[in-house]
Amino acid sequence: MVALTFDDGPWEDTPAVLDLLAQHHIKATFCMVGRQVAAHAALVQRMAAEGHTLCNHTWSHDEMLPSRPADRIRTELQRTNDAIHAVVPGAPIRYYRAPGGNFTPQVVSVAAGIPSPRCERSCPTWPAGSH
Ligand SMILES: [Zn+2]
Repeated sequence: MVALTFDDGPWEDTPAVLDLLAQHHIKATFCMVGRQVAAHAALVQRMAAEGHTLCNHTWSHDEMLPSRPADRIRTELQRTNDAIHAVVPGAPIRYYRAPGGNFTPQVVSVAAGIPSPRCERSCPTWPAGSH
């Protein structure tokens, strides 16, 4: 199985990605930066409608997230959930992904305390990437 993930959107390239995925009947995971969601609401709605998986990639893509206080981490994740749910109410957000793949016990534990979404067990094992 191949898992495709697209990080750091939604942005201008996203419609082309969605077109390509649709053409090949491929489902992917979109790890979205919260502050970009409202400006691209229609794209997020399209992702959900076309069966893609939504992923929380924090509000501001702060790569220093693990060194921030728990409250800040919580806010980064919660604001992003709220932004996504403002445009696709009730849509499942199955994962979060720390910017830069910077998972730490602190980040994982804060995320686990957020009711929806919380990180699923497989989440911290995702390969760390450059995003
Ligand atoms: Zn990223």
